[in-house]
Amino acid sequence: MALSGIEIYKMLPKTNCKECDFPTCLAFAMKLAAKQVELSLCPHVSEESKALLSEAAAPPVRPFALKSNGYEAKAGNEVVLFRHEKTFYSRPGLFIRVYDSQSAEEIKAKVAPADAYVVDYVGIELEMGGFVVQADGGDFAKAVSAVREASHRPLILIGEPAQLKAGLEALDGDEKVLLGHATVENWEEMAALAKEYDAALALEADSIDGMVSLSEQVQEAGVNDLVLSPTQRGFRGTLTANTLARRMALKKNFRPLGFPIINFPGDVGDAKREATLAAQAIGKYSGFIVLDNFSPEVAYALLVLRENIYTDPQKPIQVQPGVYEINDPGPDAPVLVTTNFSITYFSVANEVESSGNPSWLLVTESEGMSVLTAWAAGKFDAEVIAKDVKRFDVADKVNTKNIVLPGHTAVLSGELEEELPDWNVLVGPREAVDIPAYLKAVA
Ligand code: SF4
Repeated sequence: MALSGIEIYKMLPKTNCKECDFPTCLAFAMKLAAKQVELSLCPHVSEESKALLSEAAAPPVRPFALKSNGYEAKAGNEVVLFRHEKTFYSRPGLFIRVYDSQSAEEIKAKVAPADAYVVDYVGIELEMGGFVVQADGGDFAKAVSAVREASHRPLILIGEPAQLKAGLEALDGDEKVLLGHATVENWEEMAALAKEYDAALALEADSIDGMVSLSEQVQEAGVNDLVLSPTQRGFRGTLTANTLARRMALKKNFRPLGFPIINFPGDVGDAKREATLAAQAIGKYSGFIVLDNFSPEVAYALLVLRENIYTDPQKPIQVQPGVYEINDPGPDAPVLVTTNFSITYFSVANEVESSGNPSWLLVTESEGMSVLTAWAAGKFDAEVIAKDVKRFDVADKVNTKNIVLPGHTAVLSGELEEELPDWNVLVGPREAVDIPAYLKAVA
């Protein structure tokens, strides 16, 4: 049963010693009640309170991470059903699947481009989560080795216990993988394997009741890093199973279903349906998403969708303030100014790029606000702009000192001239879409 912050506070030492990094025991209790911190952060809780609190304080969706060679695929730790209620925390990893019936060369050819795919999105590096090796009548250990030759990212291994053991032996041992699937028939063997290799275990059952009893049995056997793998693999089945499990975990604090979920859009057939189901799984409520196809354009769309859903709605996505070079600018190119709200930056940067005109783009520190909002809040004024012109040594990059304000902030031009007396202050268009025409006219 969930405890309130006050109920939890009564069981804490009440010394306000701050060792948990919170100013008071009450503040820590409130965070515990919201399931945003671990009880273990307080080293002074009595054993009696610990026993009472640990059950209540455990996150409703158990967090853990698959790990290998410095890469991590985190899952779980979610506390809300809807992103706008607070935020989602653990971005679902996109995993590309290979089969052991494929040759080592085929496997490497599929893995290598997905492994190498890294794209910069508003200063965030987007990349694939890892790879799945699935048994399909071939040499499982050889397939695992082939993947490892092409990638060091986290792995999900799917097969019979003996095949999985051979695959695990082919790894160097210093990683945490996910094994699938424990079923009503094989769970004892799979649990033993997961324990031996400190692996996470995916549970497969075709009903909620079946999943619940499997989860309880496997936990009793001592494996706690579990993943739910519903047998429903289509659009409707995936949505229903995922939503039910997440609701039960969050709203009822129902522990047997309080685990991340793995989904298999790769099972639905063609690449378009796969991409669509993956998008659905990102929205509701997958932790690991298994795809059979990799293409940069689909990966980009899915990763950006994921980014947009998994960013904190109370904190706008920001780009790094600084000077950005667009179309290889030289010392006579103009310096355009904007704020570090990602959408503003992208609107401006895309228009400048498509204009073909070489330009410098000065992105100021404006707490992630758009131009007008930042201006109204006093975060984008002549002083801020002048400060960042100096901070980023913009004057060293140009001979012709033309600085272009966004049209909506034309009112700043007088003050900016005072702040930057060596510069020629120009006023650009109000809308980003008009930037190409403006640049052509002033160039
Ligand atoms: S470490 Fe424990 S005792 Fe100290 S302030 Fe935090 S909750 Fe209170």
